Amino acid sequence: MNKGKKLYEGKAKILYEGPEKGTAIQHFKDDATAFNNLKKSTVEGKGVLNNRISEHILNNLNQIGIKTHLLKRLNMREQLVRLVEIIPIEFIVRNIATGSLTKRLAIPDGTVLSKPLIEYSYKNDELGDPLIAREHIIEFKWANKMDLDLINNYCLRINDFMLGMFRGIGIKLVDFKLEFGRVNIDGKNEIILADEISPDTCRLWDVVSEKKLDKDRFRKDLGNIIQAYQEVARRLGIFHEESNISEVKFGKPQAVNIKKK
Ligand code: 5GP
Repeated sequence: MNKGKKLYEGKAKILYEGPEKGTAIQHFKDDATAFNNLKKSTVEGKGVLNNRISEHILNNLNQIGIKTHLLKRLNMREQLVRLVEIIPIEFIVRNIATGSLTKRLAIPDGTVLSKPLIEYSYKNDELGDPLIAREHIIEFKWANKMDLDLINNYCLRINDFMLGMFRGIGIKLVDFKLEFGRVNIDGKNEIILADEISPDTCRLWDVVSEKKLDKDRFRKDLGNIIQAYQEVARRLGIFHEESNISEVKFGKPQAVNIKKK
């Protein structure tokens, strides 16, 4: 499929114009960044895995009635998606306290929350994605009250679904980040799930060993990043019927190739 001009390049993905109006091609890179771009590397094969894992999760969410931007996966690294106007908020859903929550409020790492906690960050690299209140979102018209209620509801439904999905394959869904976008579908303005859901955007711990199977392996220099992402893909059953995966071979753990930039 022919790509149009580059619309946007983020830390882990590139968005190109799609073949038809209202579509885009989302390309998954191998680049990994953390701490607001202070740490950068390339993790060979990460883009391929995130493309497949995110496709799997978003397709499953579609099946339970959550509309997403995903139209179809095109190849190893690319998806055809609906072009949306991204709401500049990161919606963070937490089930277990860790990461920035524990640092900010000195809550012991691993504290199980009594119910899912939704936090909001303003998507702005220069400001380091600051935590904001619901009132900021409404005051600065990033979303109105009705939109926010709808998105909060989506966040909780997505959390419910993913908690069960991951629990079934021996993984604790600790927390994750979602992004939503506005789009007009058949003359109707809608808010749909955008971006990706992958080990780059979730914290996933093995139920038994509590081993981290996500981007914290990169953030905390734990090693075996690709092996962890492969493990998530394998447990989700994504690679069962694939016989000619040329870029990433599954089965035996791969050597990790991290090129420092
Ligand atoms: P924390 O606020 O603890 O750093 O992150 C909470 C959750 O949201 C984690 O699962 C983390 O991966 C995800 N998250 C938060 N901000 C970002 C971001 O800018 N990029 C990515 N990929 N994930 C994020």
